[in-house]
Amino acid sequence: MIHFPSIRWRIAVPYMLLILLTMAGLLIYLSNLIRDAYLENLRSKLIAEARLIEDALTSATWDDPAELDALARRYADLLDARVTFIGRDGTVLGESHEERNQMDNHLYRPEVQGALAEGEGSSIRFSRTVNYDMLYTAVPMRLEGQIAGYVRVAVPLRQIKVGLAHLQRTLLLVAVATASLALLLALLIAERTARPIRQLTHVVQSMAQGDLSARLLPITHDEVGVLTRAFNQMSDRLRGTVTTLVEERGRLTAVLDTMADGVIITDASGYVRLINPAAARLLGADETSALGCPFAQVVRDHRIINLWQRCYEENEEQFESVEMGRQGVFLQAIATPLPDVGRQASLVILQDLTRIRRLETVRRDFISNISHELRTPLAALKALVDTLRDGALDDPPAALRFLGRMETEVDALTQLVQELLELSRIESGRAPFRMTAVDLADVVHPPVKRLEPQAERADVRLILDVPEGLARIRADAERMQQVVANLVHNAIKFTPPGGQIRVSAAKVRVPRSGDAPSVDPPLVSDLTEVLSPGMWALIFVTDTGVGIPADDLPRIFERFYKADRARSGGGTGLGLAIAKHIVQSHHGRIWVESVEGRGSTFCVAIPALTMT
Ligand code: ADP
Repeated sequence: MIHFPSIRWRIAVPYMLLILLTMAGLLIYLSNLIRDAYLENLRSKLIAEARLIEDALTSATWDDPAELDALARRYADLLDARVTFIGRDGTVLGESHEERNQMDNHLYRPEVQGALAEGEGSSIRFSRTVNYDMLYTAVPMRLEGQIAGYVRVAVPLRQIKVGLAHLQRTLLLVAVATASLALLLALLIAERTARPIRQLTHVVQSMAQGDLSARLLPITHDEVGVLTRAFNQMSDRLRGTVTTLVEERGRLTAVLDTMADGVIITDASGYVRLINPAAARLLGADETSALGCPFAQVVRDHRIINLWQRCYEENEEQFESVEMGRQGVFLQAIATPLPDVGRQASLVILQDLTRIRRLETVRRDFISNISHELRTPLAALKALVDTLRDGALDDPPAALRFLGRMETEVDALTQLVQELLELSRIESGRAPFRMTAVDLADVVHPPVKRLEPQAERADVRLILDVPEGLARIRADAERMQQVVANLVHNAIKFTPPGGQIRVSAAKVRVPRSGDAPSVDPPLVSDLTEVLSPGMWALIFVTDTGVGIPADDLPRIFERFYKADRARSGGGTGLGLAIAKHIVQSHHGRIWVESVEGRGSTFCVAIPALTMT
């Protein structure tokens, strides 16, 4: 089977071959037909001529051989043919073109036999006498009803051949012209048939390259037209489906990208087929490079890998809580088989339980702390009551002393309960803040003044260096005073006699970029990192006290946290936690810088109001 490069040629070539074959057949048939008709025509003409000659001959002439030769030549001239007279026995009696005496007996020539049998005969053969094909015709020569001999008229076929060749040439010319025309037509038809298919191919190709908007114009009403319409419908539906899929994928990607839980999908060979940003973050992996990598290589935690393998082997959902080594991240890993996605595919979900865990710990610590804080004064009270009952009541001065101590314990308990209530009210937002614009000095001066006698008793120098009108803030003055009081109170508590406490303030502009503003006292922290850009009012409480160990620094604002329990002087450990909540409610920051044994600086920053 011949392979054609295009439909056009597949249609045109057989069509052309058919036309050429038909034309060739027709040509051969026609030229044979014409040749036969020509010969027949010639033969009848020659026979008629022979009959005319026979009719003109008389018995006298017939018997005179010299006369016959001359007659033969005369007729030959007239008819432009070769004329031969043959006797009854086959002897040549007269001849127009040859020497009669050298000619053999002609009785068994086919034309003569034909004339003898049927009254006329003809034959085509090569004449050795004249050296070319001749058409011979013969009729019997009758004298008085008896066959006396034969008249033969012959012509060379050369003329016919020339005539026929001419005719054939003409026919060939016509055939070639017709065939060319037919070929052109064949090509045109093939082209017309192939064109819509070519267009279809073109559109399909551009669709394959992603251009789903490509369409065909229905030009015809035939099968190709039907195909075109069907194709357009198909591409419309395809586009619809792809658009829906893209939208759905977009939604899914958005969900996966913003999800807090990590999601990983693996295939049957254990390669990661999908990983969302949360999973990459929780595993400390790179999202793009993790795709297509083996699961074990991406996860690198044997417990999660085991869990995933168990799910793979048992084809069942598996759970495991995993504490990752780094930064105390606590994960709940769930591996589920995903038969819908593919054979042996699995889904691994990583839930970050770190925060919940921490909250849980805080809650547990809180309860244990609170129980502890309650137990100490309660145990003291119980002991005092027992002592009174066991006889101290009978000793009034001792009883009075015990009652005094009992009062102290009750006061401590009351303070603890009050602070707890305060903290819970602030945390839950049930204590509304009465915000007004106040001068920073009005927030700092009253508590410091109030605590001066206490500082004096503790033999600590308390310096107040906050000028009036330095800065204005929007604050609940009473609560901010509580913060300052707590900081100064702590400073007195943790500063040994002879020490010094300085309460100062500053107003700074924190730039969007560039150097942090410097303040007095000089700070270790970079203000541009601690505070957002803008105007800030700062309060500093600097002491020369015991300082806070570096390990405790990050935790002293936690509830009940006491850096040095022995020296905390009966505090509840709630003061700084309350202060932090109050400052945060003012959109401010509170932090501490301290060197153990040298002293501490507590810093409070509140957004400053711009002066008008
Ligand atoms: P308390 O009621 O115990 O003072 P706080 O919340 O006010 O509770 O303080 C928590 C802990 O922070 C204290 O127990 C102490 O260890 C530490 N601390 C607070 N202020 C100072 C300070 N000025 N110098 C040293 N340590 C301090």
